[in-house]
Amino acid sequence: MEPVFPPKNSPADRLVLFVADGLRADKIFENKMKRAPFLKEKAIQEGVWGVSHTRVPTESRPGHVAIIAGFYEDVSAVTKDILPMFSHGTSKEGKMEMFMYASDAEDFTTDGSVLDTWVFEKFDEFLDNASKNITLFDQLSQKKICIFFHLLGLDTNGHAHRPFSETYLNNINSVDEGISNVVKKLEKFFNNDRKTSYIFTADHGMSDRGSHGDGHPDNTQTPLIAWGAGISKPHKYDSGSDPEDGLTAKWDMTDKARIDVNQADIAPLMSTLIGVPYPMNSVGRIPLKYIGEDEEFKAKASLGNAKQILRQYLVKEKEKSQTEIFFKPFKKLLQWELKLKTIEELIAKEFYKKAELKSVELVLTCLDGLRYYQTYDWLFLRSIISTGSP
Ligand SMILES: [Zn+2]
Repeated sequence: MEPVFPPKNSPADRLVLFVADGLRADKIFENKMKRAPFLKEKAIQEGVWGVSHTRVPTESRPGHVAIIAGFYEDVSAVTKDILPMFSHGTSKEGKMEMFMYASDAEDFTTDGSVLDTWVFEKFDEFLDNASKNITLFDQLSQKKICIFFHLLGLDTNGHAHRPFSETYLNNINSVDEGISNVVKKLEKFFNNDRKTSYIFTADHGMSDRGSHGDGHPDNTQTPLIAWGAGISKPHKYDSGSDPEDGLTAKWDMTDKARIDVNQADIAPLMSTLIGVPYPMNSVGRIPLKYIGEDEEFKAKASLGNAKQILRQYLVKEKEKSQTEIFFKPFKKLLQWELKLKTIEELIAKEFYKKAELKSVELVLTCLDGLRYYQTYDWLFLRSIISTGSP
C-alpha cells in the first residue's frame, strides 16, 4: 500500500508524546486538576483537553499500539515490552535513540515515581549532550521527529498501592512537575521556535483494586491534553455538546470544552501535526477540534484520513472478492471514486468546510466497509445457517 501524507504545510517540526502508564482520567482531572497545575494551564488556557477512550484489553501494549499506530491489535501480544517494540520498526541506522532502565528497576515495593524521575533525568542528560555534540544536535534539530516519554511510575504505584493512595496521587504531581521541566528545557533548546507539539495521555487506566485489563470506565477512560504547534486554542464550554456522562461537571472542568477521542484517533492527529504519513493500518479519525490550523488545512487533512482508510478498505475488498465464490460487495462504497472526486473538486473550489464534512462522512463509511469485510465470514456463515435450518 502506498502511504498517504497529510497536508504538506505541517504546523510542527517535532512532537513530544508523554504516556503516563496507568493514569486514569478522573485522578488527574478531578478538583479542576489541582494535582497537575502545569498540565491544567495547558488544558484550560492553551490547548485542548478531553478523555481518550481505550478499548479492551486495557493493557500497555495494545494501548501504545493504538496511540502510535492507530489500530486495535488483537489480544495475543499484550505482555510484550513497549520500547523494544518501537525499535523493531525503525530499520534505518540512526533513526532512533532509546534509553531504558533494566527491568529489575521496576520494583513494586517502593515508590514507583523513581521510574519517572529516571526518565526525566536521562532526558536532561540527553539534552545537555545534544547542546555540546554537533551530531546529536543535528539529529534533534531535524524535522518530523518524535520524542516519546514512557512514564511507568503511576502504573507501578497503582498496582502496589492502589490509585487512591497518596503515593499514586503524589506521583501525578511529580509527573506534572517533570513535564513542566521538560517543556521549559526543550523550548529553550529550540529558542522558543513554537514548532513543537505536545501530547499528554495514558495507555490505560486503573481500577480501585489496582488492576486493569477489562472494560470498566476506570480502565478505559484516560486523559488527553494537547498543546503547542498546530493545536487549537481552548474551545468554549457548551453544556449542550458536553459528553453526557456528567464527568466534566463532577471534575469541575467546565471552564473549557472537553473534547473526547477514541485512543486510535491520536495516531492520525500526530501524523497531521508533523507531516508524516498516516500509519497504514490506522482506523483512527483525526480529531479535528484538536487542530488549530485553517479550514483548508483541515479539509485536506480529513481527505487524507479518508484516503488512508479507503486504501485499507480496497485491499480487504480485493481479498474477499478473490476468495468468495458468491461475493457480495459493500454497496455504500461502490462509487468510491466519485466520492473522492467530489471532495477534491470541493477543495479546488475552496469549499473547505463542505469538503471536510464530506471527508468525515467518507471516513465513517470506509470504517463501516472495513467492518463489513472483517465480519463478512461471520455474517454469511450466519445467513447460511439460518437459511439452512427448517
Ligand atoms: Zn499495569
